[in-house]
Amino acid sequence: MELNQLTIHELQEKIKAGETTSTEIVQAVFRRIDAVEKDVHAYILLTREKALEGAAHADEEIKKGNIKTLTGIPIALKDLLCTKGVTTTCASHILHNYVPPYDATVVEKLRDAGAVFTGKTNMDEFAMGSSTETSYFGITKNPWDLERIPGGSSGGSAAAVVADECIASIGSDTGGSIRQPAALCGVVGMKPTYGRVSRYGLVAFASSLDQIGPFTKDVEDCAIMMNILAGYDPRESTSVPVDVPDYRQFLSRGIGGWKVGIPKEYFIEGIDAEVKDAIQQTIKVIEGMGAKCIEVSLPHTEYCLAVYYIIAPAEASSNLARYDGVKYGFRSLDGRDLMEMYKKSRSAGFGAEVKRRIMLGTYVLSSGYYDAYYKKASQVRALIKQDFDEAFKQCDVLLTPTTPTPAFKIGEKTDDPLQMYLSDIFTISTNLAGIPGMVVPCGFTRAGLPVGVQFLAGHFEEGKLIQIAAAYEKNANLGKRRPKL
Ligand code: GLN
Repeated sequence: MELNQLTIHELQEKIKAGETTSTEIVQAVFRRIDAVEKDVHAYILLTREKALEGAAHADEEIKKGNIKTLTGIPIALKDLLCTKGVTTTCASHILHNYVPPYDATVVEKLRDAGAVFTGKTNMDEFAMGSSTETSYFGITKNPWDLERIPGGSSGGSAAAVVADECIASIGSDTGGSIRQPAALCGVVGMKPTYGRVSRYGLVAFASSLDQIGPFTKDVEDCAIMMNILAGYDPRESTSVPVDVPDYRQFLSRGIGGWKVGIPKEYFIEGIDAEVKDAIQQTIKVIEGMGAKCIEVSLPHTEYCLAVYYIIAPAEASSNLARYDGVKYGFRSLDGRDLMEMYKKSRSAGFGAEVKRRIMLGTYVLSSGYYDAYYKKASQVRALIKQDFDEAFKQCDVLLTPTTPTPAFKIGEKTDDPLQMYLSDIFTISTNLAGIPGMVVPCGFTRAGLPVGVQFLAGHFEEGKLIQIAAAYEKNANLGKRRPKL
């Protein structure tokens, strides 16, 4: 096996045993990038020189015996995390030349833990999308089938992990953008509880829904990354000061005696037969491990999509008001006066999907419509959260499909925004309720496309997710398939 194919914990052991160096690992990652990146296009920006410098520094620390959790390990960052001195574009023309003067808290934490950054990964523009097709910088391809989408909006981060173009990566999830591409690319992805991971330095899409989380090659690496990412940040007003457990302690506990809830509303018509089979197979494996699967109900599920597509665009329209050609990034030089400069900068700077969201959001927030749309949606959101509270009285965690279909073809849904929005039908409710969700690979279709199972838990119970995911991973027997690139 090549070094870039290994996990964080495998590399940690090799580094500790003196069997390899950070420089060798980073070189292996960039050799792979040179070989496959022209096909996959997982990155917007590669920071090769900085990575090699970081690796040289890590190797000095290793020699001194100063080895931290991620010392020398190559990590990729979604391009909506502010990185000091390194462009942060959000995959948008309007920010194509924006260089932040500071690091996001998670970037700081990863750096403090010793990580080396490979670059900034591709995404849907401003994280709006489910396929990584709306990036100003071009489409990312699914490494399992280059004619298909990797999922979105964190498609670049998921593709980079499964293509071994980094060891682990960071994404963000507003309505499924970590879990959905994790499922479609066959990697592990975690969306933490709202407030668990600091959003300081994350370019905001919908502030009451956004969360940052990791993509990894296995569940143990997810626990390792969560140990670094989670925790209170005084710089972020919605960050919650609750203790963070050592997530590794959940890796070997098993799930004997657990009750696993299967929400009946998640097995709708239209769900792909092979996805359904893979989930049913997963339920059998879970039962074989001594847990009991019970049917539960989340009665307001049918309203989730409508509620999300009012709340998310509303918050986005307000968050994106700051891009006016004055303070950041792109400015149109054609305007004859200030208003025209604003208009022309925004018209030329934003892509079609972002404009659609801004118009939708401005409309639902406008006086006269606010009560009918935004307020109503917020009230239904409270009912959706209550559904989960009730469900977690009956079971430890929930088990659901992640997406209704495996990865679809590039271009298949770009002309039909509603069809695109429907691909997040199983992930959106989690963000509305603020609970954590985790996706683990659970099989392949006959055509060789990955399928992922989603586990959901109560607020701040990421440990339970890691517990069931680790137990499942051990028992699932999926073998070690890799995309043929
Ligand atoms: N696909 C959803 C959207 O377009 C969710 C995106 C996300 O989680 N960032 O809004």
